[in-house]
Amino acid sequence: MHLEIVTIGDELLLGLTIDTNAAWLARELAADGVSIVRRASVGDDAEMIADAVRDALDRSGAVITTGGLGPTADDMTKPSIAALFGREMIFDEPRWEALKQLWRDRGRPGELPDSNRQQVMIPAGAHVLTNRHGTAPAIFLEDDGGRWVAMLPGVPREMRGIFHEELQPLIRRRLGGPRAVVRTRTVRTTGVAESQLPTLLGDAARGIDGMSLAYLPGQEGVDLRLTVRGADPESSDARLAAGCAVLAERVGKFVYADMATTDLAEVVLGACRARALRLAVAESCTGGLLGARVTAIPGSSDVMAGGVIAYDNAVKQAQLGVAAATLAAHGAVSEAVAREMAAGVRARLGTAIGVGITGVAGPGGGTPEKPVGLV
Ligand code: ATP
Repeated sequence: MHLEIVTIGDELLLGLTIDTNAAWLARELAADGVSIVRRASVGDDAEMIADAVRDALDRSGAVITTGGLGPTADDMTKPSIAALFGREMIFDEPRWEALKQLWRDRGRPGELPDSNRQQVMIPAGAHVLTNRHGTAPAIFLEDDGGRWVAMLPGVPREMRGIFHEELQPLIRRRLGGPRAVVRTRTVRTTGVAESQLPTLLGDAARGIDGMSLAYLPGQEGVDLRLTVRGADPESSDARLAAGCAVLAERVGKFVYADMATTDLAEVVLGACRARALRLAVAESCTGGLLGARVTAIPGSSDVMAGGVIAYDNAVKQAQLGVAAATLAAHGAVSEAVAREMAAGVRARLGTAIGVGITGVAGPGGGTPEKPVGLV
């Protein structure tokens, strides 16, 4: 199945809202073997919406839109697409009564405003996709030739709920039979440069067993993402597992997880916990960021004892016992000072592990020997 996504809203074109809906839908659909062949965004303008949806239908025959289903005047999606299909808009009395009841049940003041009537105007012959997460019904509209448009709300939480509960099952039924899917799996690495990875990976550097390999550098390290296309779900998962095992074996100690969602700080906490080691941090240039990363993980208190933000040299000396002579000889940004900070916090907090961080955060303060970014 080929499909196009049209996201609707002036705020998307102005850059005030990042179009997370299109990215989320693309991932969900690809995992079911639906090819997204094009994505577009248009403003809250009936003609623009109709143009974009007409073009997409002509090319692909299946379109999902998000946004513009609300009760305000700029919510043009339904009337615009209904006109494209040559359908009237029909006032749905039972839905109107239900909406009024919901308004009262929620204890809202007065009566439901008349502007909400627009939300229960349904294109003739449409299938309504029930919205259990908000008030705007989503719409599935199909023409005689089997071409269809699904209109989902813009609010991401509502859109995702309706997709999972209503639209995804409908699309899966249409896909029928054995499905050719697109699946991915990620091996997370840290402490190794992107440019070193191909050497470690050898003949797997460009992919394994017909699966493509992407290098995704980020602040914490480089993720290696394997993608398999065109196979059924079970064999795709088996090939991904085998491929990731090869990647992990070649990259060795730099691998810390094989799930894209696994957090590095969580892995460190788990490793400490398994060995019954407690942790203390002494931070200069990070100003508490490391401590914040670790303590953000629920249940970290059995491992994390605490820390000292030692920004000023006087604090490094008084609170961590860094020697004045070390500071004078090596400067605050030096391995010698980082070691004394680590040893100091470890001794004072009575932990097995102390971590010391000192560096030149910038933007100013760098020198040729100690450039901005040195940590
Ligand atoms: P409602 O019925 O609640 O009015 P709607 O279908 O009319 O929803 P919009 O008014 O277009 O949707 O958008 C509602 C909210 O959802 C806005 O805050 C907007 O920033 C957000 N939103 C809309 N489109 C997207 C998108 N493509 N990606 C992420 N967020 C979006």
